[in-house]
Amino acid sequence: MKRRLIAIALLALGAGAQAQNPDSVAIRKIYNEALGNGQAYEWLRHLTKQVGPRLSGSAGAQKAVDWTKQLMEQQGFDRVFLQEVMVPHWVRGAKEVAYIQSGKQKITVPIAALGGSVATGPKGVEAPVIEVKTFQELRDLGADKVKGKIVFFNRPMDPTKLNTFEAYGGAVDQRANGATEAAKLGAVGAIVRSMTVAHDDNPHTGGMRYGTGVPLIPTAAISTNGADLLSKTLKESPGLTFYFKQNCETLPDAKSYNVVGEIKGSEKPDEIIVVGGHLDSWDLSEGAHDDGAGCMQSVEVLRMMKTLGMKPKHTIRAVMFMNEENGLRGGIGYADYAKKGAEKHLAAVESDNGGFTPRGFGIVGTAEQKAHVLQWKGLLAPYGLYDIGPGGGGADIGPLAQSGTVLFGFKPDSQRYFDYHHTGIDRFEAVSPRELALGAASMAALVYLIDQHGL
Ligand SMILES: [Zn+2]
Repeated sequence: MKRRLIAIALLALGAGAQAQNPDSVAIRKIYNEALGNGQAYEWLRHLTKQVGPRLSGSAGAQKAVDWTKQLMEQQGFDRVFLQEVMVPHWVRGAKEVAYIQSGKQKITVPIAALGGSVATGPKGVEAPVIEVKTFQELRDLGADKVKGKIVFFNRPMDPTKLNTFEAYGGAVDQRANGATEAAKLGAVGAIVRSMTVAHDDNPHTGGMRYGTGVPLIPTAAISTNGADLLSKTLKESPGLTFYFKQNCETLPDAKSYNVVGEIKGSEKPDEIIVVGGHLDSWDLSEGAHDDGAGCMQSVEVLRMMKTLGMKPKHTIRAVMFMNEENGLRGGIGYADYAKKGAEKHLAAVESDNGGFTPRGFGIVGTAEQKAHVLQWKGLLAPYGLYDIGPGGGGADIGPLAQSGTVLFGFKPDSQRYFDYHHTGIDRFEAVSPRELALGAASMAALVYLIDQHGL
């Protein structure tokens, strides 16, 4: 009996010793703070509802700069500052109009001009339609069949891909380069199926670019339901025409800013760990998942470290990057500042995949650095972070890779992200407070481990 008691006591001691592992204790504290006293959700409410849409160059973007600077100052971070960047300034103008004209039937469909597109002119564009799934298919048709028409790019995101970002990667060339490929063959417009696996009436805008030496033709996204309808109607009446009118315009570049807040490192203040998201959003949306969530999570990481009395060895910086959506000037500018200031960036963590349930992190670094991070798997797995390994870092932090910074892309569950991406329904109400808080905690836990154990 006595011996059994001793055995139990020893077991309890063992469990106690395990719980005393300083890393697991610190991570538990971070999660307790995020879940019990998290601030990111209320901040996100302000950013989405009070500031609202914040496309680069807009008054909303400037409001977001002012407010996030003020927010970080209120948190008492050691230093808060702005980095000036010149950004593209594209405006949508009056809402687009589009319809399918099939015989006497006129069917209205929802479209949204793609960011960077030219306008149609006040009369709009009306022309017969040619539907393709790939650029090769378009080239095989040749100028004879394409000239004077509107090219309809209708390759869906592959719904069988488990990771929706992979499906996006397999379709987004149509949005980015469709207008250029169509214009090379004499098309007068390009209509692109929205980048989502959802079937609904929301057109998904997004960035596009024109190739050099090619006529600039107007281009827009059509909702997936609209795309299905156009495709079906086209089979029934190949002679139909499509009409669209859009009023967008590219203005001269505008002055804007990255917003940066930091906690000074206690041992290595000259070595920096960045955690960030992008402050700009598309004009159609409140930019809740894309990427208000990532910005507020990043500020929350620093707030929690400060509140919990963690004294980081390295300088920890929250960066709200400007202009990820249509130019990446903030990310490029930030890396430039870092280079000019001879700042050493040890690591950068970006959250730009939505405020959904955390699954892990993608790592961009050497094999040794990846192996080093994988040693922390046991500390992170209890919190659902099992998908740690290969994967992208993030668009804004990408330019830091040149100087050897290890990049981490926060990976939440991807199933619902493209339901909202770049649409009017990417609103605050689409974000769960628990999932947002778990994301902030995951990022803080990773930053803590990098700070403690290096890379
Ligand atoms: Zn984004």
